[in-house]
Amino acid sequence: MTNQTNTERQVILTGDRATGPLHLGHYVGSLKQRVSLQDEHDQTILVADMQGLTDNAHNPSKVSSSILNVVADYLAVGIDPRKTTVCLQSQLPALAELTMYYSNVVTVTRLERNPTVKSEIKSKGFERSLPAGFLTYPISQAADITAFNATLVPVGDDQLPMIEQTNEIVRKINSLAGKPVLKECKPLLSNASRLPSTDGKNKMSKSMGNTINLGATEKEISTAVRSMYTDPDHLKVEDPGKVEGNVVFTYLDAFHPDIKYVSQLKKHYQRGGLGDGTTKKILEECLQEVLKPIRERREKYLKDKAQLIDILRAGSEISREKTNDILLRVKSVFGLNLF
Ligand code: ATP
Ligand code: MG
Repeated sequence: MTNQTNTERQVILTGDRATGPLHLGHYVGSLKQRVSLQDEHDQTILVADMQGLTDNAHNPSKVSSSILNVVADYLAVGIDPRKTTVCLQSQLPALAELTMYYSNVVTVTRLERNPTVKSEIKSKGFERSLPAGFLTYPISQAADITAFNATLVPVGDDQLPMIEQTNEIVRKINSLAGKPVLKECKPLLSNASRLPSTDGKNKMSKSMGNTINLGATEKEISTAVRSMYTDPDHLKVEDPGKVEGNVVFTYLDAFHPDIKYVSQLKKHYQRGGLGDGTTKKILEECLQEVLKPIRERREKYLKDKAQLIDILRAGSEISREKTNDILLRVKSVFGLNLF
């Protein structure tokens, strides 16, 4: 964590698309940090249902049915709604309005240059059917972040281009205003800011269907670990093995609490004599231990949907006020403040 976060109280805005249950990538990429930041900072978490529709408008129930699951995931990992405001994007009209204003200061060429969006467009095979909302979602993320005047955004590294885009918009609006109306923000990366899928080929992500979810059963965890990509040249136990690119070690680095032990395991694996069966067994035990209490709490929270809705409703009410305030300031920059 940066020094800055230790000393100054920051305004934090993060969020997740409501496109499915949260997974281990979310846990190490962002959720763990949010849990530790909520004590000292002013933190809001946005369930991004509107952004979820940008590539799921043909199947909206995927988004609507994911909303409460995501809230249950938050509570299960330790997000405390008394410390963190949890709100729903579609309940905050100011975000859509800000997106419209910001759309006028961003070029299509700039949007097409965004490396994360570029690779997502490719992997989703949109070609000529690319929804306008998908190409422009970085603008809507800029609206989300600036609507809270956030200064710190805990994210995975795929989101760095969105932070860059946000700060460009902030500078444009401030320059039009001739004074600082909006604040620039900084990303906060964890030390596992891009957890790979178990096959090591891609980032673990909901839309790739390659996840280990926070609610995964014991059996699902076990199957996923057993199928993990290791070192294809490590044929016999006594052979020296590679730890770089070996997903089992990437996960041990991300999840095992004993760094020294993991470092000893790596040395043993590199010199030979440590089998993949053993390293996978160690990882499986570790993940079972991490996920068991989360899975149990998640199940408990999902039994009381009314409570989850109340949390979202209360958080959205607070956020509506904040975001309307920023919207008025931005409208004034464009002279749209006649009454
Ligand atoms: P989708 O496939 O629908 O985009 P996703 O799995 O990529 O879903 P998001 O809701 O887009 O999840 O991401 C929410 C947050 O979690 C972002 O800050 C993102 O950077 C972070 N995140 C997502 N996947 C990972 C991962 N594999 N490793 C680290 N951080 C991640
Ligand atoms: Mg994503």
